[in-house]
Amino acid sequence: MDNADIVETPARRRCGSEDVHRRLLNESLNYRLNRAAVENLAFAFATGEEQPTRAETLTIPVVVHVVWSAEEHNLSEEQIDSQIAVLNEDFRAANADVKNVPPVWQGLVADARIEFRRATVDPDGNATTGVVRRQTSEPAFSDNDAVKSAARGGADPWPTDRYLNIWVCQLSGGLLGYAQFPGGPAATDGVVITHTGFGTTGTAAAPFNLGRTTTHEIGHWLNLFHIGGDDGTGCSGTDFVSDTPNQAGQNFGTPAFPSVTCNNGPNGDMFMNYMDYTDDSAMCMFTHGQMLRVEACLAGPRRNLLTADPTTPPTGGPGGTADPTTPVTGGPGGTADPTTPATGGPGGTADPTTPATSGTAPGPSEPAGAGT
Ligand SMILES: [Zn+2]
Repeated sequence: MDNADIVETPARRRCGSEDVHRRLLNESLNYRLNRAAVENLAFAFATGEEQPTRAETLTIPVVVHVVWSAEEHNLSEEQIDSQIAVLNEDFRAANADVKNVPPVWQGLVADARIEFRRATVDPDGNATTGVVRRQTSEPAFSDNDAVKSAARGGADPWPTDRYLNIWVCQLSGGLLGYAQFPGGPAATDGVVITHTGFGTTGTAAAPFNLGRTTTHEIGHWLNLFHIGGDDGTGCSGTDFVSDTPNQAGQNFGTPAFPSVTCNNGPNGDMFMNYMDYTDDSAMCMFTHGQMLRVEACLAGPRRNLLTADPTTPPTGGPGGTADPTTPVTGGPGGTADPTTPATGGPGGTADPTTPATSGTAPGPSEPAGAGT
């Protein structure tokens, strides 16, 4: 690996989630089946066939795996806490800069009613700070999931049906972060953030030093796509959300309102949405339509988070009780049809002509070989 790639501080947002999504669609029939079920349920919520029923604010226990090779990348407690604080503002629409949303879209700003806190109990039932620190000989990681495996120089996840796993490391090639969409293998579920894009202090570096990369990646983890639709600069892609305007490619930097593409005037692109590619200082909102997808995710593949008591150790020890070989079911109402082929989402490569063969789906594919 070119050393310049390793140490580069990103100047433009680059997210690996869509690449990982396509890789898993190609590798795993089970992922395609799970994604079909997830999207069927999201569609039912989007159309009103299914209604959100969650009454309480959800608190998700977080474990932060700090995987470091250079001492300065062994992040301070303050840097970790600064990121948790940002999440608890952004997912409650309590961020000070939400006032920057143009008046025409203020009514679309949504409170996700999700909060995050460091785990207080580890998988073995012991008290924990919710931080795992692992020294590695790997100078940097890519989006090949090696950072999620102790055997490959990273750190193994805690049970991914009980905890949000966040790995913070040096990512290579200007990659800011990546997430695994719901429906993927349990062994690699979670989000990965490069340390310079994590939190608001310490090694966090402008223009990604306001913690929004983690907000964006958790958005993917909760089943949100990029609002640009991941069709390059075309106008035919979709994020499957009705209240985010159709737009062309991703926006970068700090655009000025209005920024019109795809005949979406007069208001133009919603570039201040967390699921665009703008700098941290320019993004400040989720929409109600996006939250319907999140609610579907919490009623479907991530429903265990609603009932898991974070103060009680999970049964089954590390690895949890989730069976990664079992496709997700449709959640309440059971509208998801696991025999319906995956649509693959924007940019997806799933073949809709391939029928599901219940009971013969292979287990999750092994991660790609080490690439760092
Ligand atoms: Zn992304």
